[in-house]
Formats: sequence, structure tokens, C-alpha cells
Amino acid sequence: MPEYAPRPRVPGLLKETKTMNDTAALNYVIKDQLIYLRKVEVQVAFNCNLTCKGCVHGSPARPVKMLSPEEFARDLAALGSAARVHKLLLVGGEPLLHPDLVELLKLAKASGVAKYVCVTTNGVGLENMSDDFFSNVDSIEVSHYPRVRLRYTREDLERKAQQFGFTFAISAYATFQETHLSVPLDDPALVQQIYKRCKPRAEWSCHTFAEGRYYMCPRSPILGERLGSCGQLVDNRPADGVMMRDNPDLFGDLLRYLQRDDPLEACKWCLGSDGASFPHLLQSKKAAIEEASRIVHFAPTLLSPRARAELAGLLAPEDGKAEAAAP
Ligand code: SF4
Repeated sequence: MPEYAPRPRVPGLLKETKTMNDTAALNYVIKDQLIYLRKVEVQVAFNCNLTCKGCVHGSPARPVKMLSPEEFARDLAALGSAARVHKLLLVGGEPLLHPDLVELLKLAKASGVAKYVCVTTNGVGLENMSDDFFSNVDSIEVSHYPRVRLRYTREDLERKAQQFGFTFAISAYATFQETHLSVPLDDPALVQQIYKRCKPRAEWSCHTFAEGRYYMCPRSPILGERLGSCGQLVDNRPADGVMMRDNPDLFGDLLRYLQRDDPLEACKWCLGSDGASFPHLLQSKKAAIEEASRIVHFAPTLLSPRARAELAGLLAPEDGKAEAAAP
């Protein structure tokens, strides 16, 4: 049964790099001309069977779309020319909806790129998964939301884990965070601070790859699609992701990318991990689609009280008025 070491998982990591974002340096170490990445997640199913308000991937409003095994294998091979991944997470949307999930697990394991191959799920549908699934996954991480009744109990998972030798964790999420803007921030200093403090990029290491590019967060590759729902044409992918396919200097490009101090283009439309919390809510599909097309301007009320206090020097006086006027 695999064991997950606490962060940082690779000793000596901080000695390797010195960047503005020290926490980012925890995400990789260099050894034998390879970059060892702590954690990378791949979105394999874009849609979801739940309709959570504020879903960071906007999945309730997205069409049914699955990552093809061919594309997954191609990107794994490309990444493998320069890097290894300690923990590869297959995520969604809801990954259990992928009809070829077992094939994706087998591909990831056979590639030799990832040490552990894991699945993050809302738990709905675990009762339908085959023994083939349970025997090919190293770890299952269940995100449990209030008012979502799971048919598959902790005891069921415990039994399967003992039978097939995987680990699992069930984490309760009672709140979500504001994450998105649909009008870009025009204050470079504020964008820089949000990027610097961003936990998905650094502490949580939610790095990802999609359509041949490697990204330091899962929000950047889907920004264009999200803004498209608001009628805006933005393609930040070439600027925000490192091309992995047919890249003879992927090692160098990836290393420079991991060490960059400058925010991504996508950060202008993002609150990083500084967004205000709100209670988890399941909404209707119609409301989810309306939410996706909503125009969201920045206001300090979208920030957590702590972020508001810590970033106070960067918040404009007119933002303060907006805050006072907010309910
Ligand atoms: S877009 Fe920028 S601020 Fe938002 S999650 Fe990605 S790196 Fe963090």
C-alpha cells in the first residue's frame, strides 16, 4: 500500500532554488536531469453530476467532454521527457463519469511518469465502479459536500481498500470560495500579490497539463472557455502554459516557468486563494448556466476578511465605497 509523505515530499528541495515564491520551490526538485514534481492534476471529465455554486472549474455549466486516452498518453509521454510526478491526480468535473477511467489509470501507471496515480471524486458513483478500477488506483480522495448523500460508505471504501491495497481520504467541504472575475483587474500590484499568495499554484501544487501544455494552476487552461460564456474572446494559453509536445528544451522551459516571479495572464481574472468563503450550495442547472455568464467586477467584498486586511494598502478608495455599499 503506498504511503504519502507530508509536504515537502522531497528532501533538500528548498536548496535547489531561490525565488520570490519560496513555497513554489516546494513543488519540485531536480535530480538526474529530471524535474520531480510534487503533485499534478489532470482534468479527465469536464462535466459533473453535481451542480455546486461557485465550482472552480465551472463544471455544472460545461458540456459533456472527456479527455481521450490517446491525448492523455501523448501528454504523459511529452512530460516524461523532462519530468516525473510524485502524485498524479485524475480530477474533474467528476472523473468517475469518464467511461475509460480504468484505461487512463493503466496508461498513467504504465507510463512510469507518475509514482502514485490517484482519483479525486465527489463520491457519487463509487458504488458503480468495477474491481478493475479499485485494483488500478493508488489512492481515492473523496470531496464530500453537505446535502450530498453518498451510497458508498466509509466502511465500503475501507473494505475495498483492504482488498485492493489503495489508500483513501474523505474530506468534508462545507464552504466554497469566490475565485473568478470576468472583468480583468487593472492594478498590476494587486495581481502580483494575488499571484504571490496563491495556494493552488504553490502550497497546494494544483499544477496541471491540458492540450499539450503544462500550467501551474488548473484555472489558467480553462479561462478562455469561462470568459467565452461571458461573451469575451481571450486566449491566454500560449502565454500561461509551457508547450510540452515536440519541445526539445522542455526541461529548461519548465524550470524557468516553475521559477517565474511574474503572474500569469490568467491572474488578472482570478482571486487566487484570497476569495471570500460562502456556504456550499447545490443550485439548479439553469442557475449554474446563468452563473457562468455573470459579469463579475472586482470588489473588496469578494476577498476574505484576512486578505482584505492584508491587501488594504492596494485597495483603491472607490473599492472601499463599493465595499461599504455591499450588503
Ligand atoms: S490564475 Fe493566477 S492567481 Fe489564479 S489560481 Fe492560477 S496562478 Fe493562482
